[in-house]
Amino acid sequence: MIRPFEKPIYVTQPLLPDKQALVDKIDEIYASKQLTNGGPQFLKLKSELQKYLGVPHVSLFCNGTLALQLAIKALDLTGEVITTPFTFPATPHSLVWNNITPVFCDIEPATFNIDPEKIEALITDRTSAILPVHVFGNPCRMNEIERIAKKYHLKVIYDAAHAFGVKYQGKPIGTFGDISMFSFHATKSFNTLEGGALTYADPSLTEKLYYLKNFGIIGQEAVITVGTNAKMNELQAAFGQLVLERIDQEIADRKRLTELYRERLSGVRGITLLPILDAIEYNYQYLPILVQPEYGLSRDTLFEKLKEYNVLARKYFYPLCSDLACYRGQANARSGDLTTARRVAREILCLPLYGELAEPIIKDIVKIIKYLTKNQ
Ligand SMILES: *Cc1c(COP(=O)(O)O)cnc(C)c1O
Repeated sequence: MIRPFEKPIYVTQPLLPDKQALVDKIDEIYASKQLTNGGPQFLKLKSELQKYLGVPHVSLFCNGTLALQLAIKALDLTGEVITTPFTFPATPHSLVWNNITPVFCDIEPATFNIDPEKIEALITDRTSAILPVHVFGNPCRMNEIERIAKKYHLKVIYDAAHAFGVKYQGKPIGTFGDISMFSFHATKSFNTLEGGALTYADPSLTEKLYYLKNFGIIGQEAVITVGTNAKMNELQAAFGQLVLERIDQEIADRKRLTELYRERLSGVRGITLLPILDAIEYNYQYLPILVQPEYGLSRDTLFEKLKEYNVLARKYFYPLCSDLACYRGQANARSGDLTTARRVAREILCLPLYGELAEPIIKDIVKIIKYLTKNQ
């Protein structure tokens, strides 16, 4: 019999910077007397991220959602955009905030990413773009997606909120499509408390994005566009520099822990792990499993039982965005056939994973999962 953990084991834990180093950074900010509006910390983080992410251009924001909203605006998208229902609500919300109708396309069983083969059937004369998500850090089938985009003259924005540091065939993930969005929320592997970034190749976007995130102000007496306020501040940027120093170690720790989970969980009937694709450099941000009928307990039952052991797994992404009250049966969205997305949303469960998670805890979590299926 395994006893419940004394303290809750959360699905993740934020990556924190060295505390003394943060105090030193705060001293720098005090000395500079600049708290926001593109100060020295902001400029330093921007150049470090440009290098780390291996991208030609990066623009920083106060969070990922506003970054995505402004990416959509900067590309002048209209009408309908094809996206996935298997994502965080911020993805379709960003479209609706731009008066665009999200059109939900089904996902692939292997990666839970948008299924390129089902995109074309959803294209209408109102479609202006495709907004795929690299779910759990696994790259979408970008060659196929971009071939379709070219054929129909559509833009492509990738929601890369899960894909910090990922590479596909040696190419940094942020170099694909017209724009990619990264989230630096506390729960993501790299964080700036809250924050986000857009990466892109077209240099003309730099100015456009700058105006959009800073009220459209071009000079003390001139405002050229109806922008908003989406700037990253100096404390966020300083925090981010220090977290960036630790990210490679964090990814290495998560890789080691992922391998432990995979080794221990392999052979448990009805528990399926997400494949780690060839030709990618992965970031190990999540540990998703599918709980399938052969396991004996449903995903929801396993979720509840784990909670009794103080293991707080998460159902990312259930419900599907298309089933949320703000979209289901509403005129603001449209859906294709979502057969695979519905099944995956019913079976998905993300187990605890973060660099500081102790190996014995993982071993016990797996023991609990095995015990529950044997002793139902
Ligand atoms: C976290 C997340 C976002 C939102 O990012 P914020 O920085 O929290 O605004 C968007 N899309 C996906 C897929 C996410 O996981």
